[in-house]
Amino acid sequence: SAKENGKNDFQIFMPFMLMKNFKKIEIEKSLKKAIEADQFELYYQPVINLRNMEIHSVEALLRWHLPGKGIISPLEFIPVAEESGLIVRIGEMVIEKAFSDLKEWENKGIDYLHIAINLSTRQFKTKFFEKMVQKQIERYGVNPQKISFEITETGAVENFDVSLKILSFLCQLGIKFLIDDFGTGYSSLIYLRRLPIGGVKIDRSFISEIELSKESRAIVEGIILMAHKLDLKVIAEGVETKRELEILKEIGCDFAQGYLFSKPVPKTEIEKLLIERKIFV
Ligand code: C2E
Ligand code: MG
Ligand code: MG
Ligand code: MG
Repeated sequence: SAKENGKNDFQIFMPFMLMKNFKKIEIEKSLKKAIEADQFELYYQPVINLRNMEIHSVEALLRWHLPGKGIISPLEFIPVAEESGLIVRIGEMVIEKAFSDLKEWENKGIDYLHIAINLSTRQFKTKFFEKMVQKQIERYGVNPQKISFEITETGAVENFDVSLKILSFLCQLGIKFLIDDFGTGYSSLIYLRRLPIGGVKIDRSFISEIELSKESRAIVEGIILMAHKLDLKVIAEGVETKRELEILKEIGCDFAQGYLFSKPVPKTEIEKLLIERKIFV
């Protein structure tokens, strides 16, 4: 159930950053080792098309297996990776793993699948990021139409001209951009509209309130209406209950992901769902 999953999340959260003497510099050192020792793994969470309840795509979510410490959550190490600049290498590795998995699945006959990859702001605004992506697309032979990049509102609008340049280049290749955690930043669709964005992912904090709060439901409904007018798709994040799903369907949300369907799982596990073409009735 969602509750149990929540508990698991908490467990992978605790041990690392909260250890007082584990200084940032040591985390950095371990991160460098982790890159060389390939201690990273991509988990995948399915994204459901609410029109037919089929899997439309998977979101790649990074996990770090730190020997003796267990699995470290990206919420703990991504900030350190960003600050130290290691995110550039880690981010490229994520892209390579994700492209390689996508290609492998395509070769296994899973040809309908799209993939969503999270980008940190520092990573996608690095010089030559877009060239690197183009290179990896060619190297792995993946179809750019099947790739979405998730960026935050703040990352999208700060240094607007740089964003515009990078997004435009990659959009011309066929890649889509999604605004992650939508609603938690201070930007608005009015501003975002000037960027080539394909959709918004409504943050879990709104979704978890739509059952009980009329206001939250109204906000989500409003976002969906406005997004659709602007030709944007809407994805609901963190759907945990049947009632939330019902409401989201009622108000016209396009896609949903969350523990109700599946938590993020290792590659071999998601593969079973993908081959089965599971329909989430
Ligand atoms: P995000 O992109 O917003 O991903 C959604 C997060 O919500 C994931 O946490 C996912 O496990 C969790 N989640 C999904 N459904 C539910 C649900 O129903 N209930 C609850 N309580 N949680 C749910 P995760 O995997 O710990 O990732 C956290 C964040 O770390 C991500 O948030 C993303 O911003 C970042 N991240 C993950 N992988 C990468 C990566 O490869 N690169 C970068 N730059 N950031 C990453
Ligand atoms: Mg995301
Ligand atoms: Mg999110
Ligand atoms: Mg997030």
